[in-house]
Amino acid sequence: MTPRLRPCLLLHYHEISLKAGHRPMFLRHLRQNLERATADLQPVGVVQFPGRLMLDLEGNPDPDRVRERVGRVFGIANLALAQRVPSGLDSIKSAVGRLVEGRQFESFRISARRAFKTYPLTSMELNRELGSFVLERVKTRVDLDDPALTIYVEVLPDETFIYFDREPGPGGLPVGSSGTVMSLLSGGIDSPVAAWRMMKRGCRVEFVHFHSVPYLGPTSQAKARALVERLTQWQYFSRLYLVPFGEIQREVVLSVPPPARVVVYRRLMVRIAEILARATGAPALVTGESLGQVASQTLPNLARIDEAADLPILRPLIGMDKQEITAQAQHLGTFEISIEPDQDCCTLFVPKHPATHVSADEILRAEERLNLDALVRQGSEGAVLETFEFPPGAGPYPSARRARAAEKESLSP
Ligand code: ATP
Ligand code: MG
Repeated sequence: MTPRLRPCLLLHYHEISLKAGHRPMFLRHLRQNLERATADLQPVGVVQFPGRLMLDLEGNPDPDRVRERVGRVFGIANLALAQRVPSGLDSIKSAVGRLVEGRQFESFRISARRAFKTYPLTSMELNRELGSFVLERVKTRVDLDDPALTIYVEVLPDETFIYFDREPGPGGLPVGSSGTVMSLLSGGIDSPVAAWRMMKRGCRVEFVHFHSVPYLGPTSQAKARALVERLTQWQYFSRLYLVPFGEIQREVVLSVPPPARVVVYRRLMVRIAEILARATGAPALVTGESLGQVASQTLPNLARIDEAADLPILRPLIGMDKQEITAQAQHLGTFEISIEPDQDCCTLFVPKHPATHVSADEILRAEERLNLDALVRQGSEGAVLETFEFPPGAGPYPSARRARAAEKESLSP
């Protein structure tokens, strides 16, 4: 009897497998994220095998959509639409026979792997057995170096996976496995890319956006929302704090000389973001700064910004050129949103010639004239929280629920 071919998506991870001691934790996040990413594309069952994960696609009406979703799940090194068969040699042969039937390929190779060593045949023997089996059925030749078709065969104790093509996954680490960070999100090109890069390193990203309503229109908020909505496709659940900053900027303008203003604004943003970060359990901040890009992003000015923060400020774009950042933004689909014209709070009350080198003394003198505590409180207490989910209607994510519980705890007296 010929065995039934059962379609599935076979997933390999790479970096996770290096983290021996923490592997169960990484895999738990990865599984959870896969389940969430495909929550509206049922039926999809996530099954764990030694060294790989599998999404069972039997009965799934649209495997290509599942594949597209999985292409945004960080932690996946590569993925392949495969067929599952029982691991006996006869059933493997019969499956390979059916899969190559009617296909034309001028050359091929078998790439067989045993995931356990007690299988009666070695990988080499399997390659040879299956190779000659294919040669008996198809007019083709073996080419080990540059084959037109590679037939992958992965043998596990009970089941074997057979597939032809595999594509690279997004790489990185599963969102959630590295903890939570608070990202300062402007409407610009850089900060969404910075947030995405932290997601790729396994962080759940919370967002804070500073706006200048009513001094300026609400477009910067709309852009921040659209950006978060887009980025939520990689982390399934997001929270965005919208902080009124116009009044705070006005206070700064009244007493801080123009050259130091931008750095003072940034230091106030960092202090407010830090309060929100603590409340959500995020032990670090993230910005889209890149060295030398604008006056506030010189080494001395970055140092002044750091001095205002207790939490580490992560700057994943620090060594990237604008062109590289732009290419990445285009790839993510955030670029189109970022280039929409808007009036960001950075365009309000910003001097024509901000200083590229503000000393620690100058900053302290400037800030002495402000009621810092009151301004920071005004910002953090005025923050309005919005939530985003993906797929739409899927609801909050388990780890977000945990984050909320932590928040309640830290806010209660
Ligand atoms: P971006 O393209 O991300 O706006 P930029 O090159 O315009 O960056 P700046 O305007 O100096 O640089 O901002 C530096 C960083 O400060 C931003 O990447 C972002 O992380 C943060 N930031 C600036 N403005 C805001 C804002 N309105 N709300 C939240 N974060 C902001
Ligand atoms: Mg900007």
